[in-house]
Amino acid sequence: MKSPLLIFPLTLLAVVAAVVCCTPAVPIGSERGVEWGTQRSGSPSAQQTSRPVAASGNLASLMARVNLRQDLVPKGCHGRKVFRPMTPRYITIHSTQNYSADAYKHSLALKRGALRAPKRKGGNRIGYLIWHFTVDDKVALQHVPTNEQGEHADFDGPGNRSSIGIEMCEHRGSNLAATMDRTARLAAYLMRKHGIPLRNVVPHYHWPRRGASPPNKNCPHFLLENGRPGRKWRAFLAKIDSYYQQMR
Ligand SMILES: [Zn+2]
Repeated sequence: MKSPLLIFPLTLLAVVAAVVCCTPAVPIGSERGVEWGTQRSGSPSAQQTSRPVAASGNLASLMARVNLRQDLVPKGCHGRKVFRPMTPRYITIHSTQNYSADAYKHSLALKRGALRAPKRKGGNRIGYLIWHFTVDDKVALQHVPTNEQGEHADFDGPGNRSSIGIEMCEHRGSNLAATMDRTARLAAYLMRKHGIPLRNVVPHYHWPRRGASPPNKNCPHFLLENGRPGRKWRAFLAKIDSYYQQMR
């Protein structure tokens, strides 16, 4: 039997861990000159980088429609168990294929460590799925700073090592057009912020997953045709580009 003296600190630790892992979302979307790629948990305006985006009135109004909020997985927890620095060179677009969860539900799952990924010996993987943003028809939530690697695309491949991952929700009753529009605005802003060209905005399909069948995933499935990028993907890129051009 365990001593009550031992049980009390363990219980306290569990309570503290639960509280730390349930920090509420912080609004950050429409602030002028806001820099959220290097923010720390719970500190929405902690740091400015050397390449801030000039938030003109036009940019601020374009970003206000994104309703971007920070809801980070705490540092040291689950998908952020290990700090893996990243310089983002690509943006990878996904869809959740989960028909019952909105952005907040996905965020909660990430904060609880509920989304496990198989670990591989010798790899750079940490055993939890993690991506940077989840977008639905009402909000865009950020889960991890954009200078940290995610685990959403291609195991130990370049998709995970060099891309910002954005998941689009498709839960029943949601407005998919609104979700795609919000995603396009967010992608355009990330392009501006990190100097990422449009050709480096790619569907998950772009990254082959070594050992998986098929290696190139049909994702985001509603923007692909017969499992490949075609007319619908090009139209989506054109929408991103139109917001990008407006964000000067
Ligand atoms: Zn995907």
